[in-house]
Amino acid sequence: MSAPTFDLGYLHGGLRMPRRKDKSNKQPIAHVPVPQQLIIPITQHVGDPAHVVVGIGERVLKGQLIAESDGPISAPVHASSSGKVVAIEPWPVSRRLGGNAPCIVIECDGEDRAIELSEAITPFTSMDQETLFQKILQGGIVGLGGAVFPTAQKLMHASITPLEHLVLNGIECEPYITCDDMLMREQADEVLGGAQILMHALGVEHCFVAVESDKPEAIHAIADVMTELQDDRIAIKQIPTIYPSGAEDQTVQLVTNKEVPTGGLPTDVGCVVQNVGTSAAVYRWICKGEPLISRVTTVTGDGIAAPMNVFARIGTTVADIINFVGGYTENVHHLVIGGPMTGKSVTTDRVPLVKATNCILVMSDEEQFGNEQPCIRCGDCASVCPVQLLPQQLFWYACADNEEKLRSYGLMDCIECGCCDLVCPSHIPLTADFRMAKARMRELADEVARAERARLRYEFHTQRLDREQLLRAQQLEAQKQAAREGGSKAITDILERTSKKDDQDP
Ligand code: SF4
Ligand code: SF4
Repeated sequence: MSAPTFDLGYLHGGLRMPRRKDKSNKQPIAHVPVPQQLIIPITQHVGDPAHVVVGIGERVLKGQLIAESDGPISAPVHASSSGKVVAIEPWPVSRRLGGNAPCIVIECDGEDRAIELSEAITPFTSMDQETLFQKILQGGIVGLGGAVFPTAQKLMHASITPLEHLVLNGIECEPYITCDDMLMREQADEVLGGAQILMHALGVEHCFVAVESDKPEAIHAIADVMTELQDDRIAIKQIPTIYPSGAEDQTVQLVTNKEVPTGGLPTDVGCVVQNVGTSAAVYRWICKGEPLISRVTTVTGDGIAAPMNVFARIGTTVADIINFVGGYTENVHHLVIGGPMTGKSVTTDRVPLVKATNCILVMSDEEQFGNEQPCIRCGDCASVCPVQLLPQQLFWYACADNEEKLRSYGLMDCIECGCCDLVCPSHIPLTADFRMAKARMRELADEVARAERARLRYEFHTQRLDREQLLRAQQLEAQKQAAREGGSKAITDILERTSKKDDQDP
């Protein structure tokens, strides 16, 4: 990758970097056929894993619920084609910290038979807010821009604050990735149809579709549909092509000129951001009854014979998708799920496509970075950081495992954009170190919270035992008193008085 240039225009820091997008955006989106086997992880979202509701040997249909949402932040999972459940077992997946995850394995029958809808499709305009949130939740829709936060819960949370704008994020600032660009070119009607549903759900009267100015075809396609819809609540906002302008807070700033406060959310400045793919997924579920069982993903890099965008079923293995696009070239170095800046390297192509997979990147030797060297304190990393952090200091404290300093230097504000990695002349994998340090800190915080809950439970348990002991003593005393007085009224009075509870078990 040639040296990127600095740009201090609209955002602090950021990079103009080689786009490498024309490898994959020259042909229409192709459809990957039904594979022999689907490997569907039960956790493809932020939050609690979904709860499996099918058994081994059970036949399932396309669109059938196979794992239900389980917890305040969770999303259901559906079968992406028809067939038989042959296993529910751990399988290698592409996750930020690697490893295996429980998956439902479906042997496809090739018939691709869809389940009948349990209810007729209702126009979204006749649904109230709560009904629409619940409906979106049932469709398994999650943020397809990479965050995979369950969409229904995000909307519910947003709806309790005063809102001004829905921002549809069509900014695809990371090199190589073109799936949102191609989706907007080919399915702008679904993207904007979804925007109308989301505006109705949130009760907002304005929507910006944010698109980078180097995507003229997408801009034209969106503009054409806007003309057809005659919906003057929707406007296009062209954004300069600077990485990471597509990060949520940066998008809000570029579109509305409002800065999301540190540690805050776009809702703090009256905005809700949804990826254009999420918007199209909402449309397909609400207006066509198709839950989130497939997505567009970019298959690209010098290691891919014929780079392109494909529509593939969730659970199709990366190996099957790469075979479909003509296989590998001879110049393969390694496989990344996601883009070169925020993606995750994997060591096997047996991993399945999941809701978060926006790109399958196969890099060649020439596309590699150099070997890691000690930090020379040049400060380049700080000058490109879009959230104005000091990556060299964070790196120092991450190595020392100094949680207090990491917090005070704002590690939790790092958006893991990878800009600092890219400019570092010492090739230090700063972002990977920050990601691991954040995970360690979250784990620690979880442990502290768990210990606190256990302490509260113990204290309450002890208090309850004390209360019960006191109650028994009072009852005994009442019986003795009644025996002395020869009447039962005293017992009743005391029992009533002592059986009153003054608090609840946490
Ligand atoms: S990865 Fe984090 S520290 Fe590095 S440039 Fe991006 S936001 Fe800043
Ligand atoms: S860019 Fe790399 S070498 Fe320069 S200060 Fe940052 S971490 Fe150190």
